[in-house]
Amino acid sequence: MEWSERCWAEVDLGALRRNYRQLRQRLSPGEKYLAVVKADAYGHGAVPVARVLQEEGADWFGVASLEEGEELRQGGITRPVLIFGYTPPQYAGRLAEEELTQGVFSTDYAAALGKAAIAGHHEVEFHLMVDTGMGRLGLRPREEGSLREAWDILTIPGLRCTGAFTHFAVADELGEEAETFTGEQLERFTAFCHRLGEAGLEPELLHCANSAATLLREESRLGMCRFGIVNYGLAPSGELAGHPAMPALEPVMSLRATVAMVKEARAGDTLSYGRLYTAPGPRTIATVAIGYADGYPRCMWQGGRVLVKGRWAPIAGRVCMDQLMVDVTGIPGVVPGDTVTLAGRDGENIITWDEIGEKSGTVSYERICGIGRRVPRVYKDE
Ligand SMILES: *Cc1c(COP(=O)(O)O)cnc(C)c1O
Repeated sequence: MEWSERCWAEVDLGALRRNYRQLRQRLSPGEKYLAVVKADAYGHGAVPVARVLQEEGADWFGVASLEEGEELRQGGITRPVLIFGYTPPQYAGRLAEEELTQGVFSTDYAAALGKAAIAGHHEVEFHLMVDTGMGRLGLRPREEGSLREAWDILTIPGLRCTGAFTHFAVADELGEEAETFTGEQLERFTAFCHRLGEAGLEPELLHCANSAATLLREESRLGMCRFGIVNYGLAPSGELAGHPAMPALEPVMSLRATVAMVKEARAGDTLSYGRLYTAPGPRTIATVAIGYADGYPRCMWQGGRVLVKGRWAPIAGRVCMDQLMVDVTGIPGVVPGDTVTLAGRDGENIITWDEIGEKSGTVSYERICGIGRRVPRVYKDE
């Protein structure tokens, strides 16, 4: 479909390549790079992002669901793909056909998946998930009998184990408490894998590090690192944003929209739903063609700002579903058709996804994943 310049997300694949190269440099030769492209590559578009990263040399891809894995295969991704999330066991055949590697987290799940695989004369490849403190999915090594369970899972017909992994809860937090907890998670995981090894069952490929752990804790890299947010040029947390361990990454996605109308408001005029904005004097107001249905948060009328002609313009009144108003008083010559930057660079100034996350009470991750389906992604490459 052709796109129109109502609003759009610019995805800079050149920046994605440069981020990848910088991150890859941090790894030692034997360490594998898994690029996390779940949630449509954090809103950037799974297939275009994965194609670029495959070309650059990413070894594995990580997704959250069967559908996301199939989308990669249809888009020409041939490297191994690991599904972190739940796939109902009756779809074992689809996993096997597309050679997707499933995360397996319990004996019941493994038994059901193995049974479905055998029924369709398939074999499903899997990685064993170990819950060392996230409390989400996986065997819990501190439970009595967890080794026995692992043994059961690893010997179920219809399944073939090629790896094991765990996931950190606070790898992106600095401070003693968080660092101790991450250390304990790592220790539980490696001890558990060691015990599997003693039983002759050690999976080939062990991994646990997300973006934050990879950068902060070399000892957590094991056989593979799972890079998510940093591919897209963003820091895993505010604490890591200025940290010396963070490479200088380039944000990949910018969000822009077009001015539809410019008008003069008089003192006392109110704007938008709820009449929460009152003009304190004569103001020049531009109506911009983007709203919360496009993924720009409704609450951004409180402290939100955009860039017009390289200059700051505060949001005036509640963000509507499809439009918002900004105060462009003092910015000369704003006319319909002008481009507004909601995230990204315009001239000297930049609006970060961290800023938008923080001002809307969440993190950059949620904001970029939430960019609406109706916002065209416009790609440029090196
Ligand atoms: C999402 C996810 C990641 C990536 O996390 P980042 O903080 O974006 O690097 C890694 N591993 C698993 C299991 C995940 O679910």
